[in-house]
Amino acid sequence: MFNGYPPSQSGYVWLVGAGPGAIDLITMRGRQALAQAEVVLYDDLANSELLEICAAGTEFIHVGKRAGRHSAPQDEINRLLVAHARAGRRVVRLKGGDPTVFGRLGEEVQALRSAGIAFEVVPGVTAACAAAAAAGVSLTQRGLASAAVLVTGHECVGKAGPALDWQTLAQTGATVCVYMGTRSLGALATQLLSAGRQPDTPLLIVCHASLPSQTIHAGTLESAAELVRDIQDTPALILIGTIAVHNRPDNATPAHVDEPAYAG
Ligand code: SAH
Repeated sequence: MFNGYPPSQSGYVWLVGAGPGAIDLITMRGRQALAQAEVVLYDDLANSELLEICAAGTEFIHVGKRAGRHSAPQDEINRLLVAHARAGRRVVRLKGGDPTVFGRLGEEVQALRSAGIAFEVVPGVTAACAAAAAAGVSLTQRGLASAAVLVTGHECVGKAGPALDWQTLAQTGATVCVYMGTRSLGALATQLLSAGRQPDTPLLIVCHASLPSQTIHAGTLESAAELVRDIQDTPALILIGTIAVHNRPDNATPAHVDEPAYAG
């Protein structure tokens, strides 16, 4: 049915993006993988209703990944993926959003490659796109935002490589899409302000994007700490930049433009 799609190969792993939450935001390819799976390892952020797509008898392994809650260590997840595939089973690793975005895909792919196991990554709708869609804004826009960056508000302590260079980031004028950022938003806003972003730069916090429980909170970089104080709801995605209000129908005042318009 799908070009290049293994029909029912054994000892195979699909690393599938479940999308942001709504069950109809997974791809057809992702559904197909779930329908063929014999084992599914899934995260908290992947809507568990998606497991209903699987055939009777499918084994489900919860490897939750939410801050402050128990989750299987990454090594254990890697080990399970390899062990089940080596046993000749068709395995789905179901991850919230898109597997390539803050999803520890690199470690899993490396484990599968080292073990010589065939795998495929199936993309999904990442939270930044779902949040932008929920608010009816564009992440990039000609003349307003020529770049969008995906950043974590929860930088891994002791990771290899330099910490985020907020100074440079602020100067690009890019739309900043912050994942895992509600706890650190105050500090993050301070960094962006001291790096030269305007205090009235619009900011949106979208909680539970795509789900019936979805809420959208609007503020500015200056009011960020105050705005986030009342929001305990997660998951939440923060959008910072001119476009955060530009297209909104309820935006009566003109958007602030903090970077020069460009031609092209
Ligand atoms: N791979 C995922 C991101 C995992 S990191 C993706 O591509 O979306 C987890 C963070 O994603 C959460 O802390 C939150 O910032 C964001 N997130 C995931 N689902 C979300 C949703 N439905 N609404 C808002 N933010 C979400």
